[in-house]
Amino acid sequence: MRIKNKKRFIISCASLAVLLVIIIVMLIIRVNTQTKEIQASEKSPKTLVAESQKTTTEAEATNAEPTTTDTTKVTETPVLPEVSQTTVSEALNDGITQVVNKNHSISSDLVPGDLVTVDLPSTRDTQLRGVAAIALKGLFNAASTAGIELYCCSGYRSYETQTGLYNWNVETYGVEGAELVSARPGMSEHQMGLAMDVTSASVGFDLLESFGSTPEGQFINENAHNYGFIVRYPQGKTDITGYAYEPWHLRYVGVDVATDIFNSGKTMEEYYGVN
Ligand SMILES: [Zn+2]
Repeated sequence: MRIKNKKRFIISCASLAVLLVIIIVMLIIRVNTQTKEIQASEKSPKTLVAESQKTTTEAEATNAEPTTTDTTKVTETPVLPEVSQTTVSEALNDGITQVVNKNHSISSDLVPGDLVTVDLPSTRDTQLRGVAAIALKGLFNAASTAGIELYCCSGYRSYETQTGLYNWNVETYGVEGAELVSARPGMSEHQMGLAMDVTSASVGFDLLESFGSTPEGQFINENAHNYGFIVRYPQGKTDITGYAYEPWHLRYVGVDVATDIFNSGKTMEEYYGVN
């Protein structure tokens, strides 16, 4: 082989080699691209499903009125909080502002379902409805802070207990006298679990009219409404309430109503316009 031919041969071989490399590189790139496209096309349906599911979940989570296609979720999500709030509200407010007196009675078998034994200084164990017991604790704590010592005397009384008490008063004071100081069975706020008679050492832990002029009675008169209680049978209102002055008998009606009644100077009957 001549030198000139040998050079051409080498150049040709080199060119061919470069061409081959280029072809191989292009093939590799093409195969890679195709592989990615295949992978992408395989993933695509799954991704779409996942995204679809995610979108559906978000829609369900934020949808206040879900469609009826998923009955399980319809019954689970939006209804329960509404029902429970209503139930709690009814449980807390049931009967709290109900007027019970000589003209408006309650059933003989009424026993409040949420009675608790009051955790306060008491002359005996006694009970109130939970909401009233919590409020009374607030009143007693405020009194204690002011150096006033109060005692519970009598809270919830069953229909039967009230019957015995009324009969004892009739035997002791006669019907007319008893009517002024004791409710007939079925007409007592004590059966509602919303009334508490309070007393103090200064009146010998008794229930006396003179309690009203003691520091304890005055504190009650001036502050009870801030905790949801009213002095239910005020002085000089016997012709309206039917009862003698009872500075010890507190009735729970809630802070708003108690404050309104206190500021109005009215009895509960006058406030609600009932006899
Ligand atoms: Zn009472």
